[in-house]
Amino acid sequence: MNPANPNAIPRACVIGWPIRHSRSPLIHRFWLKKHGLPGDYVLREVEPEGLAGFISTMAQEGFVGCNVTVPHKEAVMPLLDRLDATAASIGAVNTIWREGTDWIGGNTDMIGLLANLDAEAPGWDACEIRAVVLGAGGAARAAVAGLVLRKAATVTIVNRSLDRAQRLAAAFAGRGTDIRISSAGQAAAALGEATLLLNATSLGMQSKEPLELDLAPLPAGAVVYDLVYVPLETDLLSQARARGLVCVDGLGMLLHQAVPGFAHWFGVTPQVDAALRAHVLASF
Ligand code: NDP
Repeated sequence: MNPANPNAIPRACVIGWPIRHSRSPLIHRFWLKKHGLPGDYVLREVEPEGLAGFISTMAQEGFVGCNVTVPHKEAVMPLLDRLDATAASIGAVNTIWREGTDWIGGNTDMIGLLANLDAEAPGWDACEIRAVVLGAGGAARAAVAGLVLRKAATVTIVNRSLDRAQRLAAAFAGRGTDIRISSAGQAAAALGEATLLLNATSLGMQSKEPLELDLAPLPAGAVVYDLVYVPLETDLLSQARARGLVCVDGLGMLLHQAVPGFAHWFGVTPQVDAALRAHVLASF
């Protein structure tokens, strides 16, 4: 509900710069229709210079909240009244909602990532988790936070920029998970004992450089999770599939991370199902 106008139809949006590529309206409009709810979800292009102005007038514009994407995920944090514990620990906000007159910033990437793994690779966390995470950016932070939450024994971070990997490892040190850093050239040892390999770099994305990694050292039961979803079947996943490994693509995370925002804004907790996936896939 919008406290400024309780009778208004709830509207949410996704803000970013640029924003035309976002699939979020497809997801939320699918759920609004499915549940017969009044409401709307729109794209809103917000330049970096316009971010503070947008947040300060969001309520007057009739928004009950928004998703936040590149490049605003960190810059938006000081503009909000409060962060939830997940956003504070990850250091980035991707979902904003209202509690009373306060704007709350949350991060649902971690929940989405874990929910997708649970759905597509059930039992992945039943044994001791030994993960290799490629990347140390925002998505990798969500991944490491989730792995620490699920009590991973080891997480090895492999990133081009060593300092960024070190900052990520330091942020989650002392929480019961042995967080290590490895260069790409020395990752074979970590891969050799990994139960999960997770790509959280932009390598392998359409129009980006390919991800070159030899999967031969991975044990037979390992799960390979690529957060990249354009293309959906990345070279990494094709290679893993050819070896008979369990594969998880990035589209599921995109769908699952949307669930908490929808629940906050529109009051119903929606399901991620095959129909939603097919609906979003049709836009690829
Ligand atoms: P960031 O820009 O924060 O991080 C990018 C990461 O990729 C960094 O670790 C960076 O390394 C690495 N990288 C980029 N270019 C190269 C290169 N040429 N060689 C080696 N490493 C490189 O992006 P995000 O963390 O937000 O996103 C990362 C990926 O995750 C993207 O593909 C994105 O689409 C995907 N993603 C998927 C989501 C989903 O719902 N499925 C949600 C969020 C992200 P360095 O630190 O050295 O620059």
